[in-house]
Amino acid sequence: MERAEEQMRFLYALRSRGVTDPRVLAAMEEIDRGAFVRGLFAERAYEDTPLPIACGQTISQPSVVALMTQALEVSPRDKVLEVGTGSGYQAAILSRLARRVYTVDRHKRLVREAQKLFEALDLANITAFAADGSFGLPDQAPFDRILVTAAAEDPPGPLLAQLRVGGIMVVPVGQSDAVQSLIKVTRHEQGFDYDELRPVRFVPLVEGMAQD
Ligand code: SAH
Repeated sequence: MERAEEQMRFLYALRSRGVTDPRVLAAMEEIDRGAFVRGLFAERAYEDTPLPIACGQTISQPSVVALMTQALEVSPRDKVLEVGTGSGYQAAILSRLARRVYTVDRHKRLVREAQKLFEALDLANITAFAADGSFGLPDQAPFDRILVTAAAEDPPGPLLAQLRVGGIMVVPVGQSDAVQSLIKVTRHEQGFDYDELRPVRFVPLVEGMAQD
């Protein structure tokens, strides 16, 4: 298939799944998912499907990336934390919408490879760290927005604490082997509001650093 036709189908699939925010659609159009998928699976980069990446992890389904980004309501002044760098694709999308993006993964190898891509694509407002993201990034906190791209049993306390008042966190919540719920948490002066958005399926948020 021609690249232009592939691109058209890709954007059509996003719209038909409820992605309506023009800034999110523009970012999805601008960032080439093909750059974040390797080897055998590269030719399927523009299908609306999750695909395997290194370290037994997955790059999320594009429509899920777009819907999570849309739910996060990112503004150009925001400092955003992403937990679960994976391929780096979601961080790249966020970098087009936010002032600054911090992204962390427990696999050093994924962080290294994503950093190379951010450099090659000139995405200079992303900083990637190898870290256990369940503790957030205390040195960079507070964040205007937090996006967790691995499923937690509950929204991690340290992440709630690092969310600015008025801030939004989007996180898949539930058991790792079941269907999880995407939750939108909004922090107010007096506490937190929780909205359930949709069923999703993510790899689990795992404690501690990985070996590789
Ligand atoms: N956002 C990614 C996909 C994420 S897959 C993308 O756009 O490609 C989920 C990622 O979360 C995996 O890479 C996994 O290593 C990471 N992860 C799981 N538990 C973690 C933790 N405690 N801290 C940081 N990263 C974690």
